[in-house]
Amino acid sequence: MPSCADAGGGAAGRWASLVAALEGVERWLLPPSCLLCEAPVPVREGDALICGLCRSRWAPVAPPWCDRCGQPLAAGLECRLCAAWPAGLARVRSAVWLRDSARDAVHRLKYEGWWRAADALAEAMRVLEPLTDGVSLIPVPLGARRQRRRGYNQSERIAAALGRRMGLEVRPGMLSRSRETPTQTALTPEARLANVAGAFTGTPGVAGRICVLVDDVFTTGATLAAAAAALVDAGAARVEAVTFARAELPVRLT
Ligand SMILES: [Zn+2]
Ligand SMILES: [Zn+2]
Repeated sequence: MPSCADAGGGAAGRWASLVAALEGVERWLLPPSCLLCEAPVPVREGDALICGLCRSRWAPVAPPWCDRCGQPLAAGLECRLCAAWPAGLARVRSAVWLRDSARDAVHRLKYEGWWRAADALAEAMRVLEPLTDGVSLIPVPLGARRQRRRGYNQSERIAAALGRRMGLEVRPGMLSRSRETPTQTALTPEARLANVAGAFTGTPGVAGRICVLVDDVFTTGATLAAAAAALVDAGAARVEAVTFARAELPVRLT
């Protein structure tokens, strides 16, 4: 990817014009209808792949919540979701619940190749507390095999969209996955933590930075906790995380 610093000319400038031209062709080829409800997208919503009505139906995750993991929690109660996390992940916030059309949006982004839907997801995440001036956005990396199969990393697309909207730097190279992990779907929270422990490595470039991990969905936070531990090991000053959606947990957190 070209850097933003020389976007005005040279190779980066030509790249930007090529991207703009291809987006123009895509808009011309595709009817301007919402990816989720197929209603026409009004001109004033420009390039949005997901219409305003669909986005307004996404249910925000609202307080009171656990100050650390952002899971809704009555005041005064102890949180059982993040109690077993290793040290390092200071705070996580998610924009909306993984329900209905928010679930559909994630599905389109993740499994159907609609990576430009990341813009609509990023727009819903702008209000999240960890996203303050000067932080470095670090997308959670996919395993090499999954990334090859999908062709892109959905978390990287969301981080790039957030970075553009909020003027924040995006540093995908600062965290890598050092081993593939089996799918987590059927695991309990404790088993998930063990499954991903040591799966990530941070680079020395992360030293002294305030990092915000970016992911599409928060389930138990095990992946984010393991990624944060790797960044702290590499010298990060502080690590927080944001996700577009938060899954409603079917498991009892005991
Ligand atoms: Zn719609
Ligand atoms: Zn918690």
